[in-house]
Parts: sequence; C-alpha cells; structure tokens
Amino acid sequence: MNHFELREGALWCEDTPLAEIARVVGTPAYVYSTATLQRHYRVFVEALGEHESLRGALVAFAVKANSNLSVLATLARAGAGADTVSEGEIRRALAARVAPERIVFSGVGKTYAEIAFALEVGVGQINVESEPELGAVASIARESGRCAPVAIRVNPDIAAGGHAKISTGAAESKFGVSRGEAERLYAAAAADPALKVRGIACHIGSQITDLAPMASAFAVMRELVLDLRRGGLPVERLDLGGGLGVPYFNQPDPPGPQAFAAVAAKAAEGLDVQAVFEPGRFIAANAGILLASVIHVHERPEGRRFLVLDAAMNDLIRPAMYDAWHDLRPVRSRQGPRRDYDVVGPVCETGDTFARARPLPPLESGDLVAFMSAGAYGAVMASEYNTRPLAPEVLVRGAEWALVRRRPTYEEILAREPAAPWL
Ligand SMILES: *Cc1c(COP(=O)(O)O)cnc(C)c1O
Repeated sequence: MNHFELREGALWCEDTPLAEIARVVGTPAYVYSTATLQRHYRVFVEALGEHESLRGALVAFAVKANSNLSVLATLARAGAGADTVSEGEIRRALAARVAPERIVFSGVGKTYAEIAFALEVGVGQINVESEPELGAVASIARESGRCAPVAIRVNPDIAAGGHAKISTGAAESKFGVSRGEAERLYAAAAADPALKVRGIACHIGSQITDLAPMASAFAVMRELVLDLRRGGLPVERLDLGGGLGVPYFNQPDPPGPQAFAAVAAKAAEGLDVQAVFEPGRFIAANAGILLASVIHVHERPEGRRFLVLDAAMNDLIRPAMYDAWHDLRPVRSRQGPRRDYDVVGPVCETGDTFARARPLPPLESGDLVAFMSAGAYGAVMASEYNTRPLAPEVLVRGAEWALVRRRPTYEEILAREPAAPWL
C-alpha cells in the first residue's frame, strides 16, 4: 500500500496535490511519501516481531536504494539502521543520525581509506567479502589500535532476483566467499585479536519474488552457523540481507513481509542469534514517484505514437538498464479511449525509452504524468548525461512538503569544471 491516490480526478501524495509540487519545483522531479516510508518500515519490523527468533533484529535500510538525507532521517527516526556500501553512504547515514553501531558496511571493493573511516566512526558491522579484504581490515585495525567488528559474507551459490544484473548469489558472481572458504576465514578472524567476528551475512539478489531460493540460501546459512559453533566458534549475528521484491503493478503480487519473515524465522529458529536485515527496495520503491511533463505527442503517419517527456533515462535508468516496467499515470485523470504510446525521453539514445506500446488515455503537451514505484534505485542512479540537471527531490508529509534536494543550476554544473590552465 502507498499514499499516492486519486482525489477528485487528480493524483495526490498524501494530502498534497502533485500538480502543486510540479508548479513550484518544475519537472522532472522525484516525490516521496513520508507515511509510506514509515508504513513500509513498520510493516517489515512487525512481521519480524511475530517470530521469537527474529525479535530484536536490526533492520538496516539499504542506503543505496534511496540515499536522500531526509528519507534516511525519516527512517532513522522510525528506528532503522543503515546498510551502506561506501564511505559516502556511511557519511549520509551518520548525517541522518543513524547510530554508528546500527550501520553495516558491505561491498566487494572497500578501499583502505573507507575501511579506516568505518573503523574510526565505529560502524557496527563490516561485511567482509574476500580473504584479501579480511587481511586488509585486520591490518588497518591493528594500525589504528582498534578492534574491527566483522561478519563474513557468504555466497550461498543460489541465484535469485528480478534480472541478471541484480542477482548476486551465484558462485560466479563477485559477491562474498564460498561456504567452505567462509569457515576457514571465520576461524582466522576469530583467532585475530584485531578482529571481532560477529557472524555471517548473505544477500542473494534484488527484486526477489519467489521465496524458494531465499529459503534455500537461508538454510545454507543456518547450517553454517551450526557448523561454526560445532567448531567452537561463537556466532552472535545472522545477516540475511535484503532483496524482497515489490509489486510494479504489471505482475502478480510478490510475497509480502509476513511470508518472508516466516522463511527467515525458520532459519534463525533456536539459534539465539541477532538477525540483521538489509531491505532497500521493499521500503522505498512504492514510497516515491518521478513526476514528468509531456513535451510533445508525436504521431508518425505509419502508426507509432510517441509520448515525449521531459524526464529521461538519466533521471530514471531502470527501464533502460533492467528492462524494468513502471506504471505511468496521468496526474489529472483524462477521459477517452486508451491508445498505445511509446513513452520516451529527450536523450539522444534509442535506449531512452520508458515503455513501448503502453495503453494510456489521451494525453497532450503540458500534461503531467507520474512514474510510479520510482522511490528505490531512481534518483540515486540519476546522472547528468546530456547535461541535464539532476532532478530535484521532494518529501511530502501530509499537507506539507519540502524540497529535500534542489535542482542544480547550469552555473553550478559548469563551475565544477575548471578550465585546464593551457586553454
Ligand atoms: C542492494 C543490497 C541490498 C538491498 O537490496 P534490496 O533488493 O533493495 O532490498 C541489501 N544488501 C546488500 C549487500 C545489497 O547489495
């Protein structure tokens, strides 16, 4: 459920008409709903809370899904921790007042400087993804006189996810270590006084709509916890990652948080571990939209009808990169027979196509439209390709709203590039 609804023939976000936001900040623009962010976080935590083995779990929002500071602060206030993959994201989480011990630091290529920074600010868990990385974390910890809290990221050799580019759990993917290697690294970490090994972690993919691979991966993790303990090694945390899919409206509803929690609970049952989760998309996707305006409707004599928008692939890359489907709704309801439109942006690439032959009511130049479910992997993946300024971001709370990232001016964009002195 989300808080983008039709009222009197127009699309609103909570108690704010989207047309009002577009009038003030212009388009394209991202709009997020506070109530939806809070609701999704709460529903997730409540689903976990129904299981003894998952009570007290750390729910660390995957910052890469939506890293806007006001979005992070909204979730931090609701109680969320943060799953981060760079120093920049750790800095964002801290700026949004996530307590350092509630920050998880993941990623296959953490640099020396990033690891040193994570240790200095005291993140709660560094997910180590390889043997060389374990060595690096240990030596940086020794040099700085700190003890590094680590978890070993296991690649359970089970692939899942809505698209090959967002599947991370197969043996040939770059993420984590094999189960056998994990046991060896875990023992090495436990024996190193510069490291405090807290547990094991996995994350097998994103936009997962089938719980079976998750159940298999979690079963591998459970077995590993038991094996490590049989070997006399302490395991205090079990991090089961993120990946739960969301409905993008053209699919059957994916499994909800209750079904997901039941699968996770089965894996954690009786282990007496603190569970950790890293949901991103589930929390943020349906809490945001991308607002755009129609520039032209261009009908070719041979039949194709193009809806040319002022939003493009640089603003929302998911359709171009993952063949993703986003529902597109007119902001003011239009009467009339639906016709097929190819929905495109102004960028000079054929890939700048949001949808082909999409049935939509009659639309004209100047109309506002909304790409639904754009709150995750939307603004964060935007670029200034074609020197198009980054779309601004707006956070709505009831009848009030705030510009939480402004659109850069052309002067700001050009000023970032000092001329070479010989020019
Ligand atoms: C991307 C990612 C997540 C979040 O995935 P979602 O599908 O958005 O829930 C969680 N953990 C790790 C390690 C990730 O890379």
